[in-house]
Amino acid sequence: MSFSCIRLSKICFLLSVIICAILLLLIPKFQTSWRPKSYPQPRPLLVFNGSIKSDTPLQQVESSSIDHLDDETNNIVSLVKEELVEKWSQYIIDTGRSSLKTNKKMNGSPSNPLHDVMKDHLELSELTTKEKLELKDLFIAVKTTRKYHKTRLNLLLQTWISQAKGQAFIFTDWEDQELHLGAGVHVINTNCSAVHTRQALCCKMSVEYDKFLESGRNWFCHVDDDNYVNLQNLLRLLSAFSHSQDVYLGRPSLDHPIEAADHVRNDGSTTAKFWFATGGAGFCISRGLALKMSPWASLGSFISTAERIRLPDDCTIGYIIEGLLEVKLLHSPLFHSHLENLQRLRGEAVLKQVTLSYGGPENKRNVVNIGGVFSVQQDPTRFKSVHCLLYPDTVWCPTIMVK
Ligand code: UDP
Ligand code: MN
Repeated sequence: MSFSCIRLSKICFLLSVIICAILLLLIPKFQTSWRPKSYPQPRPLLVFNGSIKSDTPLQQVESSSIDHLDDETNNIVSLVKEELVEKWSQYIIDTGRSSLKTNKKMNGSPSNPLHDVMKDHLELSELTTKEKLELKDLFIAVKTTRKYHKTRLNLLLQTWISQAKGQAFIFTDWEDQELHLGAGVHVINTNCSAVHTRQALCCKMSVEYDKFLESGRNWFCHVDDDNYVNLQNLLRLLSAFSHSQDVYLGRPSLDHPIEAADHVRNDGSTTAKFWFATGGAGFCISRGLALKMSPWASLGSFISTAERIRLPDDCTIGYIIEGLLEVKLLHSPLFHSHLENLQRLRGEAVLKQVTLSYGGPENKRNVVNIGGVFSVQQDPTRFKSVHCLLYPDTVWCPTIMVK
């Protein structure tokens, strides 16, 4: 009796092992039918640099943050800044209709209803409101670093951030008590290193992304600490969309998509072509889209995605959105970086933009062309003048401005 019991349990054991093995073999088959859409996982990209061998696939990659990266990790050839400014002067600088044409051609996807929103509406006033938006719906991440707290960041705190204390989230790399006490805004010490390397910048973007998801807000916008944000114009632009749609808005720094070595794609090609919005001009992403980015962006995976493709933070955002999620960047001429010739933005047009910037020490004269408030000596970046025109009641603005 006990002998047959032992044999029976042996047989049962063997049977269950066989069933398990069969199930294990079947898992991959089930997996393909489970997934509504299986996205390709990012694979390492071969990034070109000055010393790259000629047989290496060529990629054209320039980013707002590339040409100043500190060390050998900057393995991306960028156009010389002057060349970029030159290039950009032919592209979209003002709000004229001619630039729209360039945009349409570049965009290449006129049938997309989201693109239609932008297509014929260069002027913000021409956009129709889709969703009522308030400042509290926005999360504006400002990337900065220790050495710019007293200079660049202070200027922003005095100007546009003073009007958006609850919306601006400052991402830095240092515990600055003065900033915490004085600013009254959200200050986040990312604990990322205070260097201008691809890794350190991607580390900050990764924290920005996670904090945005945590905040529960509807729109994620990223800007650098040399950007002025026109809050009312930003609200007006974003309210033309719904935050639950897939929206990625910003300005490319190139007039062509990046082509980078990638996995074998559906069409058999081994390169990914994608546009990205340059971080130095600022860009925005809807919550709906940000949630979809999560497998490649949340909880530190942004760093590994960037590391695997060896591209800077803003390119990596473009890669995830256009390259992996296949959502198109909406090219907007209303965002501005100092890679453009900013002098060409003048007068009234300056106040109609969403973001502005100014040239660094090596290109001090690359600023927007606006007069009537402070002289260039008093206000070399022109941000104070812009701010006083937008908010004439500000205590430090010339009293003559108060209407
Ligand atoms: N930045 C940083 N760490 C650094 C240097 C710069 O986080 O060590 C930030 C800086 O605060 C700014 C952005 O990176 O928000 C771009 O820096 P910068 O304007 O100096 O360079 P560029 O616009 O030419 O890329
Ligand atoms: Mn900059």
